[in-house]
Amino acid sequence: MVSTISNEKLPELPARSRAWALFLDLDGTLVELVDHPDNIAVDDALRTRLETLSTLLDGAVAVISGRAIDDLDKHLTLPTLAMSGQHGAEWRDSQGQRQIAQAHQKALEAVRHQVQQRVDRDDALYLEDKGASLALHYRHRPEAGDILKGELVSLVNEYPDTLELHQGKFVFEIKGQGYDKGVALERFLASPPFADRCPVFIGDDRTDEDGFRTVNAHQGMAIKVGTGESVAASRLTDPQAVHEWLDQWIALLQRS
Ligand SMILES: [Mg+2]
Repeated sequence: MVSTISNEKLPELPARSRAWALFLDLDGTLVELVDHPDNIAVDDALRTRLETLSTLLDGAVAVISGRAIDDLDKHLTLPTLAMSGQHGAEWRDSQGQRQIAQAHQKALEAVRHQVQQRVDRDDALYLEDKGASLALHYRHRPEAGDILKGELVSLVNEYPDTLELHQGKFVFEIKGQGYDKGVALERFLASPPFADRCPVFIGDDRTDEDGFRTVNAHQGMAIKVGTGESVAASRLTDPQAVHEWLDQWIALLQRS
């Protein structure tokens, strides 16, 4: 992958004079994107990094992902870490309480069947059923992106007040309206241990822009990973640079 961002200068670290809450996307942010979502590499160093940050920030660390929480748990195996999955449609607070959005489930069930039929006709497509949202992965059929988009748009348009379609990196997601990473972030910021803290959010994809907007509204720190347009004021090159930046922040927080 060609990157035009210099890795020499990492963004400034969050000032020690303020209390911070940290929100992190997973894929493309903490781990490299891979050909199949099951194949991401989560190592113990990453787990330790997240646990250490959670301790240093009094539990105010959450992963905000398009993945389902069950899927996040399978890879991260950090069952006490706060999380929001499926772009905000499900969440787990720092006490371990889980909730999932229900309002759009009937409509989702109806389109699930039709999308599955489409996927059954093409081995290169992969449908991920997350429970409260659907992800159609087309990494191995990139040339079909436009056609798939057209098909999914007309499918979702049958439920104009209930469902919406999002496009990510070689993935289309069908999800309930009214949920996004910004909504997820606001929900965390409304209650302890996140409340009254200034948010940092690091993400790499289009769906992370909602989170960046929320962070900007709170005068927090929005950090975009990689290239591409963004409302985030800061950049990191890739997951490796994210790890380095987080490690520098840990060192700063540990300094007495
Ligand atoms: Mg991502």
